[in-house]
Order: sequence, then structure tokens, then C-alpha cells
Amino acid sequence: MTGSERVAVGQALTPSQQRAGAIVTIEDETIEAVEARSETERSPTRAYPDGIAIPGFIDAHVHGYAGNAVGSDPNKLVNIAEEVVETGVTSLFPTTVSAPQNELVAAGAATAAAVDRDHDGASIAGLHLEGPYLNVDQRGAQDPDALRDPAVEELQAVADAADGNLARVTLAPELTGASEFVKAARDQGLIVSAGHSAADFETATTAFDTGVSIATHLYNGMTGFHHREPGIIGASLVHEDVTVELITDLQHLHPGAIELALSAKGPERCMLVTDAIAATGLPDGEYSLGEMDVVVEDGTSRLVEDGSLAGSTLTMDNAIRNLVEEIGLDLPTAVRMATDVPARAMGLDDRGRLEPGLRGDVTILDEDLTVQATIVGGEVVYERGQA
Ligand SMILES: [Zn+2]
Repeated sequence: MTGSERVAVGQALTPSQQRAGAIVTIEDETIEAVEARSETERSPTRAYPDGIAIPGFIDAHVHGYAGNAVGSDPNKLVNIAEEVVETGVTSLFPTTVSAPQNELVAAGAATAAAVDRDHDGASIAGLHLEGPYLNVDQRGAQDPDALRDPAVEELQAVADAADGNLARVTLAPELTGASEFVKAARDQGLIVSAGHSAADFETATTAFDTGVSIATHLYNGMTGFHHREPGIIGASLVHEDVTVELITDLQHLHPGAIELALSAKGPERCMLVTDAIAATGLPDGEYSLGEMDVVVEDGTSRLVEDGSLAGSTLTMDNAIRNLVEEIGLDLPTAVRMATDVPARAMGLDDRGRLEPGLRGDVTILDEDLTVQATIVGGEVVYERGQA
């Protein structure tokens, strides 16, 4: 089935403008045109008169959704992809937590199997390994027993199992063997990010100079900023090629910390991620993140053991609403941070904007910025109230 729709909306956010009264035409899974209704004779196949058409969200850091955790089971990956479209996400990078090598290899194989399967919902764009090469002092909710120094041969085994679907690895650049590991990962075409790290400014800067391109959830799981020891936070903020992840649930970060990142980096280097765990989309209660027990209270997920924040239950539509309603960012900028910015940072040059020639991945928000409909490759995969 090839997706073709002509969708009439109240407004469409293209890279250059907020176009009122638009029609987005998708032919054979590809955006053909975004034009004013008055410019075209053709009638729409669907209409969302109050809807705002934006590019579909791209989540580069997600551990689970709706009771399904990223791991060795391809069915769960497919379930995440199929369910998460209700939050407007059209592409995702399933993300592991630190685990023994056999489990990471199994996650690689599961990703390859899920990508190969003909499934509905969001596209599974590649696996992200968050660790296990992380600093125990900045472990957050990562299992301390699974943490270890970087090992190129382990990465190779996961990459082989993933069969071309390993996209990214997060490590702490101060660990023994990190620079050799970064080189090997870059040679394989992988994206490398720095996180759960106590690196000093110089070590982090060297890592960024040698191919580490993303700071994983900036501020969280990092040594705090000090004016004489700016550390990895300072290095991430001043290195202009680095894209920083931000978790904008307003629990992980003070609004002022978000504003600091925006003013230092510009929105084009600030990428919204959810870091969502399997409890996301479910009621408060007891859950797990890898081997760690987690309790979710008022939507905030913490380790039972020590109360550390343990991922989030944030959704992308919520992340956008928080930026617009609580931080005062304009909608096009907030949307860009969840679409074009992750597309560029994660190497997806066929999506991320409402632009002719790109994939027909479109999310329709209503006026209060909740998701009304989600379109992947020209196919409507979610419509509110039609579950
Ligand atoms: Zn995470």
C-alpha cells in the first residue's frame, strides 16, 4: 500500500513560514506540495479545519512506551512503534540501558527483526545504545553492575547482530579506551554521543573534536557546572558542532537551564528527546527500567533504591507544550527542536520538515497542541477518537 493523501489544515508549518489554509499533498509516501488552498483546484481527501500540520516528531532517545520496553523482543519494539504515534512521533530510535553484552546483542537482533517486519506506526530508524560504557559516578538509573570500559569488539558484535540498524552509542569519554572506541564507532558510520559522564572540560572538548556529536540529556547524568571546572556541561554548551539533548518535562531541568542551552546553542543545536520508559502512557505505579525497579508518582519516574530520576514518562507533544506554554518559545521553534534538529543530528536527511521531496510524515496538532492525527509515509496511522 502506498500512502497518498491531500490533507487540508488550518495551518501548516513549513521551514520558511506558517501557512494558513494549506493543503499538504503526499504522493507515494512523499510530500509533493504544501500550498495554499486557493492555489490548488484539487479537493482534499481529509480535512482538519483547525489543525496545525507539522513534520512528524523524531525521538532519538526512547526506552519504551505503553508497557513495552526496548530489549530482546522484536514484538515489543513493533508495539512501541505502533502505539507511540498517538503522541505524534513518526520516527524513533529505540534505546537500550546498560546491560550484559548478550542482552545488547539480542537487542541488536531484535531491532533488525522489527525493522524487517512490515508494521504500522512509526518508522524504527535505528538502535541507540545508551551505555554500558558510562561513568558509575554519574550513572543515574543505569545498573551499576552492567557498567564497564568501552570495548570495540563488543560494539562490533552488536553492530553485526543489528545488521545495519545500529545508529548510535552513548559513552562517557573519560573512560579508559574511549578515544579508540570513538574512532572505531565513527569509522563504522555510527553517531557517538557523550553522557552519564564526569569528564572535565578538556576531555569532553577533545571527544567533541574527534567525532562525538551529541551530548546525551545535557545536564542530567553529568558533573554540575562550576565556573572553574566547567566540565562536560560547559564543553557541550560552547562547542558549536555539538547538538544537546534536552528532556523538557520540567522535572529533569529548571526552565532557566533550558533557556541557557537555547541561548548558548541556538535552537538548531537543541534536540528534544523523551527518554521515555515503558511506563509512559500508563498510570502511576511500579515498573522497571532494565534490571532496576522504578516507581512512577504523578508521572515522575524514580529508582526505588535511591530516588534518582529514572528516564521519564514524557511524550513529545507534552515536551512541545511545555516549551511553548511554560518557557514562552514560539511554536515553530519548539517544533523544529523535535523534527528538523533530530533529523539532522541523527543523519536522517529524508525527513524532519514539511518540504516537497521529503517523507510524508506529518503530525496534525489542534489549537491546544494535542495530537489530532499522525501520518506516516502518507498513511494515516492515528486519529484521535478512532482508537
Ligand atoms: Zn535514557
